[in-house]
Parts: sequence; structure tokens; C-alpha cells
Amino acid sequence: MKKILTSEMSWPEFSEYVKGNDTIIIPVGVLEEHGHHNPLGTDTLIAERAAYEIGKKANIAVAPVLPYGQTSNILDFPGTITLDPFLYKKLLIAYAESYIQHGIKRILFVNGHGGNTDVLQMVSRTLFEKHGTFSFSNQWWEVLPQLNKEWNCADHGGYFETSLMLATNESIVDMTKAKTAPSVRLTEKIFYGHGWRFNNTRINVPSNLYNMQKIGNVGNPPQEANIELGKLMLEVYVDFNVELIMEMKKVRFS
Ligand SMILES: [Zn+2]
Repeated sequence: MKKILTSEMSWPEFSEYVKGNDTIIIPVGVLEEHGHHNPLGTDTLIAERAAYEIGKKANIAVAPVLPYGQTSNILDFPGTITLDPFLYKKLLIAYAESYIQHGIKRILFVNGHGGNTDVLQMVSRTLFEKHGTFSFSNQWWEVLPQLNKEWNCADHGGYFETSLMLATNESIVDMTKAKTAPSVRLTEKIFYGHGWRFNNTRINVPSNLYNMQKIGNVGNPPQEANIELGKLMLEVYVDFNVELIMEMKKVRFS
């Protein structure tokens, strides 16, 4: 079977890969609380799994997931780990630049964590300015609601994310511990749901409000989460990215 993970390739195999392909997928996540029932690595594990499935289907190499990211607003939950955003930006650039040095010209970042989004945009801009590298990121909770109006994905460790986690690795989710968390609202219209939202769009509100609940998950209650939904969400997200990466490969560099 053809190797997809760069960690499993030998250097001649990677060298062979870049002779015929200038694209790579880099999954990024974080270690962060996701309620009583989900693992700390939820964002990392979902990104890693999605990236692997995209790579396998599109025949594109997948780099090891970066499990550390930026999550400064819920640090008082034990096990939540964050990097300073400037350090995180430098780290991502150094990681990408090593691949660029070996011939990679296009990078798809598969992002599993909302706190990483802004840094990833800065990283893509910097890589383009410094090397002309064509890179960008996307995240499942922003893509899926566009493709299926019934999937609002407005939760953190809730119905949608727990379903995806079940599809990623059912054995490390303890559904008997799933609790309903009250929704977190700043106003009637500004509320938390995998990032702050207003009229169904994401807005940037720096806040640690959801610390106060002492539960950890936010938004859609997780109790009805199920693996069938998670598998379907994963499939739709993977297919979206397979199509995207094929389109990305058509972009011509001057
Ligand atoms: Zn998450």
C-alpha cells in the first residue's frame, strides 16, 4: 500500500513523493478540555483523522499533527495546554518552511481548533510573502454548516463535536459522563458555539466566559451525539477537502 504519512516514509520515499507532487496536508489541533466525556486531544485527534482520510483519498502526503496550539481562554481546566500566539506562529512557519525547503509549494492546514484560526491566517500570509507558497486552512465547524443547513456545529464538546469524536475514536469517549451545559450568551444574538457567533457568522470576542460553567462543553447538548452522524460529517468534510485540494493543485505559479 502506498504510504501517505510522512512519518512512515523513508527519506528516499519522501524525495520520490516531492518529485511528482508539491502539495502536503498539515493537521493542527490543541490539547484542551472538551467537557467531562471527551478527551483533551479532541481537536487534535479529529484534525489528524480528517487529514489522514483526505490524504488517502486525494493521494496527498500528510505531515504529523501538531498537537499544541493556542487556547488561552480556558486554562483553568486541568490538562489544557497553550502556546503564546507569536511562538505558535513561529513554530508553524518553521514546520512549514522545512517542507518548503524540500520542494513543497502548496499546504493545506486541516485545523481542529478555533483558537488557531487567526494565527493560521497570519502563517499563510507570511509563507506566501516569504516563499510564494500557496497555503490556507479550513475548519470543519465552518465548512459543514455551509454544506448542510441542519448542521449548525454550534458547540464545543457538544452534539456535533462529540459525534465527530465518536467517529474518530469511539473507545475514548465516555458518553455516561456527558452533561448539558447552559448556552453562553453575551446578548440574545451574540453567543458561544465553537467560536463566538452573531447571526450565524463567526465574530472575534476575546472572553473566558465559559470557564464559569465548570462543565467544559458548550452549546448543543452532547447526550444525543452518535457515531453515525459523526461518520457522515467526517465523510462530507473529507470530500469537500479532496475537491478543494484537487482545485488547489490546478493553481499555476508565475
Ligand atoms: Zn474542539
